[in-house]
Amino acid sequence: MTEKDHFNQAMLDFLQASPTPFHAVAEMSQRLVEAGFVELNEAEAWHLEPGGKYYVQRNQSSLVAFVYGRSPLLDTGWRLWGAHTDSPCLKLKPQADLENKGYRQWGVQVYGGALLNPWFDRDLSLAGRVHFKTTGGEHRRCLINLERPIAIIPSLAIHLDREANNARTVNPQTDMPPIVCQSTEDTDLNSLLLEHLRQTGHSEAGEILDFDLSLFDTQPPAQVGWRNEFLASARLDNLLSCYVGLAGLLDAGDTTHSVLVCNDHEEVGSQSAIGAQGPMLKSILQRIAGTHENFERAIHRSLMVSADNAHGVHPNYVDRHDNNHGPLLNAGPVIKINANQRYASTSETNTLFTAFCGACDVPVQQFVIRSDMGCGSTIGPITSSALGVRTVDIGVPTFAMHSCRELAGSSDAHGLAKVAEYFMACETLPEV
Ligand code: ZN
Repeated sequence: MTEKDHFNQAMLDFLQASPTPFHAVAEMSQRLVEAGFVELNEAEAWHLEPGGKYYVQRNQSSLVAFVYGRSPLLDTGWRLWGAHTDSPCLKLKPQADLENKGYRQWGVQVYGGALLNPWFDRDLSLAGRVHFKTTGGEHRRCLINLERPIAIIPSLAIHLDREANNARTVNPQTDMPPIVCQSTEDTDLNSLLLEHLRQTGHSEAGEILDFDLSLFDTQPPAQVGWRNEFLASARLDNLLSCYVGLAGLLDAGDTTHSVLVCNDHEEVGSQSAIGAQGPMLKSILQRIAGTHENFERAIHRSLMVSADNAHGVHPNYVDRHDNNHGPLLNAGPVIKINANQRYASTSETNTLFTAFCGACDVPVQQFVIRSDMGCGSTIGPITSSALGVRTVDIGVPTFAMHSCRELAGSSDAHGLAKVAEYFMACETLPEV
């Protein structure tokens, strides 16, 4: 196995173990703890040691991990890597139980800008967080992941909709409820959840109080292509960038003040206590800096890399890209640029990122949206405007963004991880 294969396999294992942001944060936390990072409680006093490694979670779904570097913070600033833990998906409604023609189904909310067609005819499972009361009356919470296929959204046969290939649209309220089982008395959602909890080490579970549960496709991530040129998986947007940032942080040593921030709620606008528009990152950086003046001095020596996947130019739809800015899979990370500040990149930060890629022998590409199309956005402009930190928006090129099966090149994440490590270990930023 080459180093790249090894990296990709470990990343695909992470993707499979992380069907929800809760699981992604748990998986990242486990790797951080194994590497000597210590969890901090935001409600308590912190005593940070030079060379110390720490992390903070909020809501079990957003995470900030940082090295309190040995070099003086005011001389070097922070090297920040940002990504998001959430992906578009189908979430169960609070009162999810539906019954129709003898079938048990679940009502779902569409989370974020999901591409809905790929969800049909998939073997779906369920994962997320459940709050319950024990038979003794205590409140508990746990993460669950059923792993096995327990639901499916069958397509309507073409014979019953002759226009299916020309004109089928998807109504999220009426077309998306999955079929779970033949309906009997004990197949309401609470009964099924209690049955699952009791079978998986929570024999004390007495009553379901609340949950945050999502459906996911059980097909495992895979290397695809005649020579394994591609990686196919759900949630490449944006767990790929979380994993790459984590790998960079773990390898960056303890000299530089490096920070990994992985926010939930990016796909729904970032405005929450744990989203990029909330105070989480700023509050942590201010506590690291100690005083307001130190924070301001450090932030002006800092750089943020906001990593989120980019759109590769799809060979069947080349007209959806500007002719001069069509990123290719396996041709390196993409710097994302938008004159209207949908991306935070500037010519200065682009030059810095290009220099990091050059130092790592990794090629780099550029993306701008066609001038007659609307542009997406990332946590880059939000974090950049909240902190006043110089930022570059980048990401690996992918196809099928927001599908439940996305596609990336098998060289790009590995190349970007080298750049992440180089950047997060970089004590002095070059003058540009
Ligand atoms: Zn994204």
